Amino acid sequence: MSISGTTSVLGIIGHPVEHSLSPAMHNAALAALQLDYVYVPFPVVPDFLGQAVEGLRRLGVRGFNVTIPHKSAIVPFLDGLSPDAELCGAVNTVRREGDRLLGFNTDGIGFVASLRADLARDPRGASVVVLGAGGAARGAIAALAAAGAGRITVANRTRERGEGLLETIRRAYPAVRLALSSLDGEALSTVLPQADILVNTTSIGMNGTNFEYLESSLLSQQAAVYDMVYVPAETPLLAAARERGIACANGLGMLAAQGEAAFTLWTGQEPPPGLMKRVALAALNC
Ligand code: NAP
Repeated sequence: MSISGTTSVLGIIGHPVEHSLSPAMHNAALAALQLDYVYVPFPVVPDFLGQAVEGLRRLGVRGFNVTIPHKSAIVPFLDGLSPDAELCGAVNTVRREGDRLLGFNTDGIGFVASLRADLARDPRGASVVVLGAGGAARGAIAALAAAGAGRITVANRTRERGEGLLETIRRAYPAVRLALSSLDGEALSTVLPQADILVNTTSIGMNGTNFEYLESSLLSQQAAVYDMVYVPAETPLLAAARERGIACANGLGMLAAQGEAAFTLWTGQEPPPGLMKRVALAALNC
């Protein structure tokens, strides 16, 4: 890749951002398509988010991804939001249009694309149990509702957060059947047997943490388990599902698919199929 005076800049803001796989994924796709762009990481501490966004605007950056902890905090600094980002109250992709910076959320469509590609599951008509009600859950649940999920049950530690999420989704998708559950063994024992798809959107599973109270033997043998966590590649939740012969996938496919959707928003082109996932896998394994 050679950088010249005409090269367009893309990037990612986050804190921390050093661990991000997005620069490797996007630069590989830009190089494969021989596009005159470069994608760089920008560490941005929360106190300087507004100034950083203004700086990116003034520098003419063409677009950027947004990661933890800025996905919701960035909203007031943007000039407009896509319907998905508006519904989620969170942005993971910003695109410049003239002098305006517009926010999008590709996490939800990335999740549903990965469900289809990695688990061969279509959400249409499915009963889905979602663990967690944070930013990742909002995007996933909005995309599940848009894809025609039959029933979505949200199980969250903090009840009010779950209630707020269901209220938002109910207003946007009045036809979807929604339910709230506690995130404990007793409550899960009644919802797990009905699940066609179980999705973990919490950070449990990172650093060896586990849902001690989740009894995966309650899942139907035909169910599928999706864990948005991808480090480690096999969380205890996924290991338990695999041992029982239940189909399962981690969040690497979602990471790649949200990246592919962002890439298309910026460049108008689709990255080579599978390239971003292969690059992310290679980066994790080295
Ligand atoms: P977030 O907005 O901070 O939400 C965190 C969620 O996890 C909340 O529902 C929170 O419950 C729950 N939680 C955290 N610690 C818990 C604990 N000890 N016990 C029970 N519940 C707990 O974070 P996020 O942005 O949604 O991200 C969540 C996870 O998804 C992270 O692991 C992130 O890496 C992953 N993710 C993956 C992708 C991908 O592309 N694969 C994309 C986005 C996010 P409370 O409401 O009770 O606090």
